[in-house]
Amino acid sequence: MALTVLNPATEEPIAELQQAGVEETDAAVARAREAFPAWRSVAPADRARLLRRLATLVEEHGEQLAQIESQNVGKPIAGARGEVGMVAQVFHFYAGAVDKHFGETIPVAGGIAATFREALGVVGLITPWNFPLNIASWKLGPALACGNTVVLKPAELTPLSALRLGELALDAGIPEGVLNVVVGKGSVVGQRLIEHPDVAKIGFTGSTEVGQKVMQGAAGTIKRVTLELGGKSANVIFADADLERAAAAAPYSVFDNAGQDCCARSRILVERSAYDRFVGLLIESTRGVKVGDPRDGSTEMGPLISAAHRKTVASFVEGEPLFRGDAPDGKGFWFPCTLVEATNEDRVARDEVFGPVAAIIPFEGEAEAVRIANDTPYGLSGSIWTRDGAKALRVARAVESGVLSVNSNSSVRVSTPFGGFKQSGFGRELGMHALEGYSEVKSVFISTEG
Ligand code: NAD
Repeated sequence: MALTVLNPATEEPIAELQQAGVEETDAAVARAREAFPAWRSVAPADRARLLRRLATLVEEHGEQLAQIESQNVGKPIAGARGEVGMVAQVFHFYAGAVDKHFGETIPVAGGIAATFREALGVVGLITPWNFPLNIASWKLGPALACGNTVVLKPAELTPLSALRLGELALDAGIPEGVLNVVVGKGSVVGQRLIEHPDVAKIGFTGSTEVGQKVMQGAAGTIKRVTLELGGKSANVIFADADLERAAAAAPYSVFDNAGQDCCARSRILVERSAYDRFVGLLIESTRGVKVGDPRDGSTEMGPLISAAHRKTVASFVEGEPLFRGDAPDGKGFWFPCTLVEATNEDRVARDEVFGPVAAIIPFEGEAEAVRIANDTPYGLSGSIWTRDGAKALRVARAVESGVLSVNSNSSVRVSTPFGGFKQSGFGRELGMHALEGYSEVKSVFISTEG
């Protein structure tokens, strides 16, 4: 079945692809299975060299990859360039990690026990459309570094950068069959990967709803699963914060990638004594977000991914919002930056909007800030703004969330663990922690008795 890939900024088709079915998925799994013994046996320094070469090729083709990503997702080109830069860093990091992920020797009676980190085998990677190449690299880097072979299923809406990465992997000298990209429907290709007896693990990023299906499907073969799911993160602004800095940064922590970001700080919690002043500053900084043509290097926000998604996002804005920014008319799935005053019980504060709509919620004191921040089924990300260091630490320890930032909205880095609490998923990506999700610990006892 043919798949037409659109540019969300123009609604023009940019590619026509054949979608894989169950048969093609099985063939990709068989190729990955055949390639596994040799890939697992590649000497660590050689596997590192191949990943390093892939990182260098991503750098050398950075502009091309950024253009593909910008056109396919509608991302501003400046942001797409930054994301591709991170992809290269991810492969550099995991090239360096190959020979630093090792076992232990444990003193036991009658000998020693040694642990080994064994590759899992064939892993299935299922990725979403919001950061297609970035999120693919967060899984591919540790999966390949640990000696696994991979079948990667990108989102149907945004398969183009993953296909190009597959070609670059071959150019880098990574053997045929080690990285297989299969384009097709989640309900067909994704589902088959989840159920396939020769797939040892599913690394999934996407919605909590599909994450539940991944867990259910994986139960049949006791597959390993790591899940990076939705979020509804809080940006907590205390009255003693540098309000100008917090307000200047807040729009980018929710409207970046047009709000289609699992880490979006889409609930802005503001201490009541600073509420009016902060909200005034926030409106001004939101007015400054430059929305428009993703090809323009100064654009900060592009369109949403699809017409259907725009309809969903629009359903969250009932009545007249506190502030609505500008967005282009005509072709493209545009939606303006929108600020809404809310309580934490409102739908806009409970459900993941995944669009440029922020809910502003007042609170009274530290205990209430923590209570509201935690009053959500999600637990992915969040920020705390205060000049009181002890309070920042107390709140950071109390918020049920996998990644947090203090006096900053930046909490995703190549070398630090990323992942969720509660219904935002489990398992960690990035940093050395990600290697745990792509290897199995084996303990071997060696007798020292005559
Ligand atoms: P989605 O869950 O609809 O799809 C994600 C992937 O799963 C796609 O490749 C899709 O084809 C596939 N899929 C769909 N149905 C499937 C099925 N039945 N079986 C197997 N695979 C299936 O999510 P999306 O709309 O592409 O992305 C948006 C969601 O992703 C948001 O909820 C967002 O929060 C989440 N997300 C999370 C993170 C994170 O790291 N926590 C990062 C980015 C996006």
